[in-house]
Amino acid sequence: MSPTPPRRLLLASIHDVSPRFESEVDGLLDLLAPHVGTRLAMLVVPNHWGDAPIVPGTPFAARLRSWADQGIEMFLHGFTHRDEAHHVGAADRFRARFMTASEGEFLGLPRAEAGERIAKGRALIEGVIGRPIDGFVAPAWLYGEGTREALEEAAIPIAEDHLRVWSPATGSQLAWGPVITWASRTRYRLASSLLAAAGLRHAPLNPLRIGVHPPDVRHPALVASITKTLKTAARTRSPARYRDLLP
Ligand SMILES: [Zn+2]
Repeated sequence: MSPTPPRRLLLASIHDVSPRFESEVDGLLDLLAPHVGTRLAMLVVPNHWGDAPIVPGTPFAARLRSWADQGIEMFLHGFTHRDEAHHVGAADRFRARFMTASEGEFLGLPRAEAGERIAKGRALIEGVIGRPIDGFVAPAWLYGEGTREALEEAAIPIAEDHLRVWSPATGSQLAWGPVITWASRTRYRLASSLLAAAGLRHAPLNPLRIGVHPPDVRHPALVASITKTLKTAARTRSPARYRDLLP
């Protein structure tokens, strides 16, 4: 009898976990859990848009800790998730508006500023969950050079962008291939994300990465596509955690 070949992996993540989106995060958990259990990652925003802070001792902080206790991976996901356009001085406002996408908080940051935000966010989340974070994912998967250097300096174990997963701590590449994600800001983006998911869910990627966002739960077509992608993946793949990619 020949040994069974190892199954390919499925990595699922919930983006923008914040008190602002608590009910949407619950909806996404209900969507994912039947297929992956607690083998999923949460991308946590310490203070979404500067006015939805995660505060230690609050019910939301307790929920985060309980999710981490259940085995859900916790990634720091920016600090405010948005560029500086809305909460600093005129010079930065100009720079942010013209040099970065509106949610690309970590695209234009110099190394020192990126390092400070990573350290501040990490300390907050680690205090709340009572364990080290699993990694860092920049908002909109957009990293500037300063951010890449700051992640290496902070020895963050895992980071990812649209196309790959790597370890800033060791410099090694952990996985390669596009992430499946959905968009709903415009009808065009919604339609093209459905098409991309329909194709990519059959691709022989290993791992297959799926990233879902709070607004997804408000669109039945997206919920159907996410469910179908999870079902298709479950036929040939094992749900896994990002840390399973580490040697
Ligand atoms: Zn995000």
